[in-house]
Amino acid sequence: MPLRVKIDGKTLELVSGDITEQETEAIVNAANERLIPGGGVDGAIHRKGGPSIAEEAHKIGHCPTGSAVVTGAGRLKARYVIHAVGPIYRDGKSGEAELLASAYRESLKRATELGLSSVAFPSLSTGAYGYPLEEAAPIALTTILDYLKEHEKPSLVRMVLWGEKAYQAYAETLKRLAKER
Ligand code: ADP
Repeated sequence: MPLRVKIDGKTLELVSGDITEQETEAIVNAANERLIPGGGVDGAIHRKGGPSIAEEAHKIGHCPTGSAVVTGAGRLKARYVIHAVGPIYRDGKSGEAELLASAYRESLKRATELGLSSVAFPSLSTGAYGYPLEEAAPIALTTILDYLKEHEKPSLVRMVLWGEKAYQAYAETLKRLAKER
């Protein structure tokens, strides 16, 4: 069951599901700096979207941690894939929080530049990159809420959480943040 928060007429929602099935105009990929297809959500996006995504990403070549670049979405329902590179978690004191916030913010900027209304995110960095869910969730949600407040587009941001544990971590955090705001 989706959880929704409205902010100045714009919506942040949390759903449990698969990002490759989303019909938002863009989906965000948890990419790596070399933009080479890997495992996790990245592997799922490339498998379902087909080879054109990797071909376009290869032409771009590189994306520094904390940044985001755009390709088409191949056979996916979305029109664009925004490839964001979150940080690899070391000890939590090596600038990870700022880099993770930056990966979300830069992805949202790409969506704004393209004039998109809707974008879906996976939980960046919380798989192979080892970022603890409980630490990543408040950073992701605060960054998105702040951005929605300051921009007209995108007007819908959907976090697509893979598995009950990730959904619960984000849902509890969002409820807490919504109370505090
Ligand atoms: P990273 O390298 O940034 O940690 P991963 O792909 O390993 O990226 O994991 C990021 C998050 O995406 C994890 O929480 C993982 O459970 C989740 N995930 C994996 N597959 C999917 C999917 N198909 N849709 C949405 N989220 C997914």
